[in-house]
Amino acid sequence: MSKGALLERIEGALANDRLREAVKRATNNFRSGKARAVLEYDDWEAMRERARAVRAHTIAHLDYYLAQLAAKVRENGGYVHFASTGEQAVEIVRKIARHYGVKSVAKSKSMVSEEIHLNDALKEDGIEVYETDLGEYIIQLAGETPSHIIGPALHKTREEIAELFAQLEGRTLSTDTPTLTAVARRQLRNVFLTADMGITGCNFAVAETGSVTLVTNEGNGRMVTALPRIVVTLMGMERIVPRLEDLDLLLTMLTRSATGQRATSYTTIFSGPRRDGEKDGPEAFHLVIVDNQRSTILGTEFEEALHCIRCGACLNICPVYRQIGGHAYGWVYSGPIGAVLTPLYRGVEEWGEVALASSLCGACWEACPVKIPLHDMLIGIRRESAERRRTHPFERWIFRGFGWMMHRPGLYRAAQRAGRWLQRPFVRDGRFRWAPAPLSSWLKTRTLPALPSKGFRDLWQSELTKQREPRLAVKAAFGEQREEGRGA
Ligand code: SF4
Repeated sequence: MSKGALLERIEGALANDRLREAVKRATNNFRSGKARAVLEYDDWEAMRERARAVRAHTIAHLDYYLAQLAAKVRENGGYVHFASTGEQAVEIVRKIARHYGVKSVAKSKSMVSEEIHLNDALKEDGIEVYETDLGEYIIQLAGETPSHIIGPALHKTREEIAELFAQLEGRTLSTDTPTLTAVARRQLRNVFLTADMGITGCNFAVAETGSVTLVTNEGNGRMVTALPRIVVTLMGMERIVPRLEDLDLLLTMLTRSATGQRATSYTTIFSGPRRDGEKDGPEAFHLVIVDNQRSTILGTEFEEALHCIRCGACLNICPVYRQIGGHAYGWVYSGPIGAVLTPLYRGVEEWGEVALASSLCGACWEACPVKIPLHDMLIGIRRESAERRRTHPFERWIFRGFGWMMHRPGLYRAAQRAGRWLQRPFVRDGRFRWAPAPLSSWLKTRTLPALPSKGFRDLWQSELTKQREPRLAVKAAFGEQREEGRGA
């Protein structure tokens, strides 16, 4: 990806009013839901702190908990596979599918499968893959990728969805929710009943029980894990909690931060294949634990990015995401967490510029239920990117010059005075109206205030003088008194 490509995607998104309206409406709904849900707790901040501590402890002891999880899954009758790379994960799932003679797959939402392009690989093997999460189903029909962690089709309007479903059904459809969901339900029912294999993501795996937890609002996670004869779960290696008790806290934080729900409509916890006497569940269960660059973050200043519980709250609050939506970020993860994870997983050299898609306002940190300092990480990635020379030479020259001048206060003050004088032809009503290139294109979409007649140093100096004046007057008065005393 080139810098031009990022800018092109952003410009394309900004020019698409339909997309911006859809993203704004959906994120507003999520935000107001979250605001209401948080008000129900007096100790939300304390809960954030506890959730952060659980994630920090888990990631600090990841090797221990992964080993415990693997042992428990095997004890429950399941198989465990560790995949270092995305390619390995794909190959493992392909082999499983071949082994069981799988012809069709019903999938519930899995961001890891998007990371590794699993659907394309299975299709190459002649396997039909059906997404069953409603949002994923819509974007699969549209041939697109997710634009939000919890609302993959959030950028689509009701009218666009009705058009997609109308093509599928070969008839005109109204745009009301019951009609559209009835179409999806009818189309997917047969998929659930006939799929040979279910593939799921993993909201959390519980180390002490060897269980996988899925939260869905459609109940598709339950169908995908109960009906097909084989179930495969793809899990990012960090999506683990030590105990069921921790799951309770993190599920509360996840659902309330994501949509404002006290709990999602369906929370499915399953532990391995069907046991004797059970009526449903798969004959075989495979857990694929995927690294795919995650371990490279461990022990670095970016480790806390692995604390993410994928709630999407940082996307909903981000002023940049709310304007450009998810596709502009260029990869599976978007918004502030995407701007951090994408360069970390795919390489700062190629993807570091995604970290520029942030105003660094810190709203993402305030929204994050596990207190990930995303704005600090974005600065860290920008720094690494700059160190690896992915910045424009002109930008480097400007900042080098600025740094040089900042070490010379006299010169800095002289430059300020000169700037005030030189800006005059371009300024009206306290701001720049135009400027020569390259500032001219920057000003097309931004407002640049003029240099004020008094800078911070001048204001600070006059404030100090004001504060000193009464003391000086008192001192002077005492001085006079002493003089008079001596004279007497
Ligand atoms: S970084 Fe925090 S707010 Fe963003 S998705 Fe992850 S947990 Fe949610």
